[in-house]
Amino acid sequence: MVVIGPEVRRADSRATLAKMRRDAKTLARPLLRRLAAALIACIACAVCAAAQINVRLQTREAIEAHLKSFSTKNSEREALIRKWFADSGCKDPNLSEQALDRKLPPNVICVLPGETPEVIVVGAHTDHVDSFGDGVVDNWTGAVLLPGLVYSLSAQPRHHTLIFVGFSGEEKGLVGSQYYVDHLSSEQRAHIEGMVNFDSLGLGPTEVWASHADKVLLDALGTVAAASRLVVATMNVDNLGTADSESFARYQIPRITLHSVTEQTWSILHSPFDKLAAVRMNDYYDSYKLIAEYLAYLDEALKPPPAPPPGKAAQ
Ligand SMILES: [Zn+2]
Repeated sequence: MVVIGPEVRRADSRATLAKMRRDAKTLARPLLRRLAAALIACIACAVCAAAQINVRLQTREAIEAHLKSFSTKNSEREALIRKWFADSGCKDPNLSEQALDRKLPPNVICVLPGETPEVIVVGAHTDHVDSFGDGVVDNWTGAVLLPGLVYSLSAQPRHHTLIFVGFSGEEKGLVGSQYYVDHLSSEQRAHIEGMVNFDSLGLGPTEVWASHADKVLLDALGTVAAASRLVVATMNVDNLGTADSESFARYQIPRITLHSVTEQTWSILHSPFDKLAAVRMNDYYDSYKLIAEYLAYLDEALKPPPAPPPGKAAQ
């Protein structure tokens, strides 16, 4: 996350996307609670079945082990993500590095070819600010999930080509993500149906920067959160910071950023407190599960409708 000012303005009021948690709290009577739970379970099953959410999850131990293997050197971070991409089955020519025109580590890119040329870009930055803390929250938490998600999404054929990118130089001003999107052809950019970014996870339950999210991507997130019974709340970071998703917004590419920062935890970013100890592992693993299911759902939900039968097109 790029932090753009020392002052922490009061952010927009938090609103729960998946309203289950609030409903569960306010339904005081046990009978109503049971009815609500049954209804939620039905809706969740129906959504799961309709969406065919099907992912293979890495164990919490594996995700946690990667998180704990952080380096404080940005070049080593990039190299670790590249190695874990390879471990997840991403091999040449689908695994590559993109050198930047500045003295920064490269972007690291893993392509999971799909059945169509339509693309979903999945991004997280690998670098951290040099001066404070270990940058585990911001953004080793996000970077570590990239190879984990390759493992999750590669278990079955996907409609979309999924492009996982560990962006370099985010903290220098979104350098890697801007370079990446600037160097795509206009045709390549036109094929990107969504860019899903995550930055600074694990400080608590998953949050979404809703005011800078594409509505279709945001609605889909709410659907998956309800189906999986994982909490997602809105925490807008306008005037507080920015993230790699905004490089894609410059080209009108639909984007969304997931994070975990609240008004209470914002001060951890770029501070001596950004350390492994700040990560709440239960919440972090829940974010991984949610994002894995979300990507699988998007792959189905963003699929173009079937072509009309021959003869109908002209009517
Ligand atoms: Zn940051």
